[in-house]
Amino acid sequence: DLALRYAKQRGKNRVEQYQAGYDELLRRRGTLTGELRHAIDRGQLHLVFQPVVALPSMRPVGAEALLRWTHPELGKVGPVEFIPVAEESGLINRIGAWVLRESVRQLAEWRAAGHDVWLSVNLSPKELHDADYAGRVADVLAEYGVPPQRLVLEVTEHAVATDMEELVRRLAEVRATGVRIALDDFGAGYSSLTQLRTLPVDILKIDHALVAEPESRTGTAAPLVDVVVRMGHRLGLEVLAEGIGTQAQLEAVEEAGCRLGQGSLFGWGVPAEHLESRLRAERPTPRPLPAPRSTPP
Ligand code: C2E
Ligand code: MG
Ligand code: MG
Ligand code: MG
Repeated sequence: DLALRYAKQRGKNRVEQYQAGYDELLRRRGTLTGELRHAIDRGQLHLVFQPVVALPSMRPVGAEALLRWTHPELGKVGPVEFIPVAEESGLINRIGAWVLRESVRQLAEWRAAGHDVWLSVNLSPKELHDADYAGRVADVLAEYGVPPQRLVLEVTEHAVATDMEELVRRLAEVRATGVRIALDDFGAGYSSLTQLRTLPVDILKIDHALVAEPESRTGTAAPLVDVVVRMGHRLGLEVLAEGIGTQAQLEAVEEAGCRLGQGSLFGWGVPAEHLESRLRAERPTPRPLPAPRSTPP
């Protein structure tokens, strides 16, 4: 491949370095694959929940489930590293099924406590190779008594590499059950517009790279975010800005008319109990009765 060819051009030493780095990478992958196989049974996986807020009120209206893996020797391994390992080894189906069930169970628990939130779950396109994926999702929702409208499944642009026709068909089946689909990391890749035209989606999640844009430019606020929000709304989609980390980014996103936000400014992913206490604290209080007029008009 390219990197190897480059290394060869630079001499034998580079090739050896490259080879050593590559061997190391393969070894790590091998270890992770072997360990990930037992992660569920050994209780090493858990979910954290990052709040999604309505704008401009900043009230939490939902959350995204984010998978965490803590291994006794390897320590914390991030999803950016282990999800691809799970996909390549075929473990993603079992892991995805666990994430879905755990998410829906949590959603049911919050609902029982009186919090009418929705929950977003990341979906690997490989999971959609299962011809009965939509049926399985519907079964889990029915089992816990959660309305399908409260679940969102997020797909990303990395789905490009997979069979587009199958992806569209499966997503349409899922959507037909009432579950909503979000297109994640919108604007991070090259294929955004094609995907938007092809995939059946309800929510557009603007990638944090676009949201971070205003700070890299001077003068006008976030021209790209502005355009994407308009476009999303024109298409009848809900638009959510990801990775809002500063007040300036929040202002730019609000100015663009975006009504949903997520990011470190509102909080990182936290254990379920933490999110619940926050939901309790920020629950809209019933509107008090108007005070009786003390003086006649
Ligand atoms: P994603 O779905 O786009 O998730 C958002 C990522 O951005 C999360 O990283 C989150 O912690 C991070 N983030 C949130 N707020 C901010 C912010 O203000 N600034 C910045 N710089 N980052 C922020 P995380 O948890 O490491 O997840 C990374 C990716 O791993 C996710 O990207 C998703 O594609 C994948 N992933 C996570 N959980 C799952 C899962 O259960 N299943 C599958 N298939 N993929 C998952
Ligand atoms: Mg996501
Ligand atoms: Mg994202
Ligand atoms: Mg991502």
